[in-house]
Amino acid sequence: MKKIFVLVMAFILAGCGTNHAEQNPEPSGEENTNGGNIEENQKEQADGTEGQTSHENDEPEENGEEEQMEESNEPSRDEPMMSQYYVDGNWSVKPIDGAKEEVVLITIDDAPDKYGLEMAKTLKELDVPAIFFVNGIFIEAGNGREQLKDIYDMGFEIGNHTFSHKKLSELSKEEQYEEIVRVNDLVEEITGERPKFFRAPFGVNTDYSKQVAKDEGMVVMNWSFGYDWNQEYMNEKALADIMVNAKELGNGSNLLMHDREWTFKALDDIVAGLREKGFGFVDPDLIETSREVQEDM
Ligand SMILES: [Zn+2]
Repeated sequence: MKKIFVLVMAFILAGCGTNHAEQNPEPSGEENTNGGNIEENQKEQADGTEGQTSHENDEPEENGEEEQMEESNEPSRDEPMMSQYYVDGNWSVKPIDGAKEEVVLITIDDAPDKYGLEMAKTLKELDVPAIFFVNGIFIEAGNGREQLKDIYDMGFEIGNHTFSHKKLSELSKEEQYEEIVRVNDLVEEITGERPKFFRAPFGVNTDYSKQVAKDEGMVVMNWSFGYDWNQEYMNEKALADIMVNAKELGNGSNLLMHDREWTFKALDDIVAGLREKGFGFVDPDLIETSREVQEDM
């Protein structure tokens, strides 16, 4: 019902000749993969890292294998799992009741575009779980639907990154609602499951978007750090190096990466480097979705 209401509202608003045109200089899926968005993405970093605290433990002592994580990449969606982690106010992943602390969370944004499916295949081969934060514009372009289904069927978590990657703070409530809920409807239609995680474009959340995410039963998360939108790191070597050796890296780091060529090429080395440092990879299925994340802020 809500959806119909919003669609009708959107239709009416468009018909009334509100500044629809002004709000539509949105990059297409194509432009979104190249340098056109660098400036905004840098803002995304600024917003996302605001208020970030330093991590105490940069070098985990243990160097063991992450066997417990390896099994959990298999889809087992019928059985609810006990939560072992939660997302804290700095968007890090924290253990509950003695779960392994030396872990990071892999997240891939702006999918499924050109490299998302290949990145999923690589991560699957490496037994690394991840959240793919998807945009409706990519799902509806080309064979985006099939790619989304394939990524989901490989056992990956599908997160909501809004329909068209607009800055939510510049939209009306109706538009924000549609940007968010339309993606959940679309993802459910294709995979049978509604997203449990929400990441706002550029990390810009509004009080209203947080409420909509909450009403939709989603955990809001920005990220701890990421570099693949900086010119300097748009090559696999530099990116692999910084993702493993960044000063921000610590227990529970929420790693932001994108559906990009250099990130795809760097994935193997990033995973190997993080494993070498003793980090495991959190299975998003084990992250609690009921906790009030905003309370910690
Ligand atoms: Zn994004």
